[in-house]
Amino acid sequence: MRRKGVRLRVVIVGIPGVGKTTVVGKLASVMRGAELVTFGTVMLEEAKKRKWVSHRDELRKLPVERQRRLQTAAAATISRMKRQAVLVDTHLFIRTDEGFWPGLPYEVARALKPTHLVLVEAKPEEVSLRRAADRLRYRDSISTQELAEEMELARGLLTVASTLTGAPMLIVRNEEGKVDEAAERVVRAVRGERA
Ligand code: ATP
Ligand code: AMP
Ligand code: MG
Repeated sequence: MRRKGVRLRVVIVGIPGVGKTTVVGKLASVMRGAELVTFGTVMLEEAKKRKWVSHRDELRKLPVERQRRLQTAAAATISRMKRQAVLVDTHLFIRTDEGFWPGLPYEVARALKPTHLVLVEAKPEEVSLRRAADRLRYRDSISTQELAEEMELARGLLTVASTLTGAPMLIVRNEEGKVDEAAERVVRAVRGERA
């Protein structure tokens, strides 16, 4: 069991539509007092002020240089959050028009100071259906083969983020209809309890 007084900064990542926000929402309701922050929402607020975009799915279409400025600003804002437990909902990479671009480059990873890195995964077929069914977002519609490639890339970048920050990495499956189980797995890991 994790000792009282030890600060937690849990960084949750995974490809779009895998269910990060859903799992993190559940996590926040279980870990009472934890502060939940969606990295993309912090970027979006800044982007709206600059009148660069009107919704979150336009962020990845901006020139990478603009995205970088928003990313740096968001990392600085989040690094100042002082709550005992902070849950950060974010991405290991972004599919931009200029290629895959890292969500946690060195400076960002360092600023976030994760104590735990959590990669949320699901079957490519499940992610494909979740993307298609979610009418609230404008996610890329790509083949299951490309989704499988994105997941492979995510695993590779997870090891990079873990090596850069020294934080342990956990891979959690978010199976269909089993959000509670995925969140419970994360809670046990950050409390240092055996799976
Ligand atoms: P993004 O990176 O684009 O923000 P995300 O990883 O945060 O995506 P969510 O918005 O949490 O993904 O989930 C995408 C869709 O999948 C939502 O409609 C959500 O209700 C659904 N979903 C999430 N987890 C599950 C699950 N375990 N079973 C069934 N549906 C799920
Ligand atoms: P989300 O709601 O998690 O999809 O976040 C909205 C958007 O914010 C994403 O689609 C990305 O364009 C952007 N975003 C989120 N996290 C990062 C990050 N770490 N680095 C760069 N862009 C990010
Ligand atoms: Mg989300």
